[in-house]
Amino acid sequence: MGNAYKLECAVWEFTLKCNLNCLHCGSSAGKLRKDELSPEEALKLCSDLKEAGCLGVALMGGEPFLRADFWEVASEIRKLGMELSVITNGTVFSPDTFKKLKALSPRAVAVSIDGAKKEIHEKIRGVPGCYGKSWEFINKALAEKLPVSVITTVSRLNPGELKELAGQLKGRNIAWQIQTAGAEGARFPKGLLLDREEFYSVGMFIENLRKTFTPEELPVIGAHDLGYNSSFLKNVSLHEKWTGCQAGISMLGIRSNGDVLGCLAINNDEYIEGNVGARAVSEIWNDKKAFSYNRRFQLSEAGGNCVSCPHLETCRGGCCEMSLMKTGVLHNDYYCFFSVEKELFGEKSRPGTFLPGLGSKRAKKFAKIKKIFLGERNGL
Ligand code: SF4
Ligand code: SF4
Repeated sequence: MGNAYKLECAVWEFTLKCNLNCLHCGSSAGKLRKDELSPEEALKLCSDLKEAGCLGVALMGGEPFLRADFWEVASEIRKLGMELSVITNGTVFSPDTFKKLKALSPRAVAVSIDGAKKEIHEKIRGVPGCYGKSWEFINKALAEKLPVSVITTVSRLNPGELKELAGQLKGRNIAWQIQTAGAEGARFPKGLLLDREEFYSVGMFIENLRKTFTPEELPVIGAHDLGYNSSFLKNVSLHEKWTGCQAGISMLGIRSNGDVLGCLAINNDEYIEGNVGARAVSEIWNDKKAFSYNRRFQLSEAGGNCVSCPHLETCRGGCCEMSLMKTGVLHNDYYCFFSVEKELFGEKSRPGTFLPGLGSKRAKKFAKIKKIFLGERNGL
């Protein structure tokens, strides 16, 4: 039994337990879920993912290294021939962590760093001392020649850090992924959410970095859902062309209690498709009724922000999580670059006419934000 959808990546919240207390944490991690999978269930999930045709698994948290069976499960993923990525806060490790990781040949080991300065990083991450610890992890992982990434989550607390952080990461063989904070988490003060202009400025920053530095000097990308269908910013994410939200299309998310969603960023129980304790993940993935909001999306279901958009057929209304977070419905992304540009520059904005209408009230506001937020181009 199969279906037309190829499961490229399963993002697995390995535990909700976390030793940090990050403001932007979308799942408000800290304590274990009451009913987290047992070690036996976790191993069974690995073979079920293989059965579902899964190509790669990303173990995240909470903090994945806090689970005692991390190594057993990570090894099982590799033994089954699936790729392994690990997303960690970088504060839970022992001297042998790096050699053990190296033996698993992970695709990526991603560590969260949210500030160039200790004070900002620790203000966001909620625990004194975590900045130095995370950099110690990064340095040890680099010494072991592991494929290290840094993930930076941008809210209104840290855009001023980006320029300095770029300098710290440059030339160190660290891939840098920049993403923006959502407002789902219970600890996140809603006033810290970027507005559309600020969000767009992050895209400009990434575009400028990618024009300024070669991928060898500073490999930087925006998160896969950061900015699409722009007339001006062509170089923000790895995708040549945005083909719509991949929740339930090529990826799924698994909570630490075995609940399966199209994407863990959609932090809403209405979108749980099943639990691996009751049904194998392969059965859920191959269920013709599952992930219907994405697999059977009809253009007429798009929200008001998207319904008359020329990109709707391929875009399908953008990132489901962003859309839900900001507008309460799916397929209605308020933050896509196409609609931000339309608002900033007007209906007539066209490729090749960068910053049209500068002089209008909106564009002046935007230019000011750009300067305050991100500094001038090439001034890195
Ligand atoms: S307006 Fe909607 S459909 Fe159009 S590009 Fe933006 S998110 Fe996609
Ligand atoms: S909901 Fe957003 S983050 Fe999740 S798969 Fe879709 S585009 Fe990506």
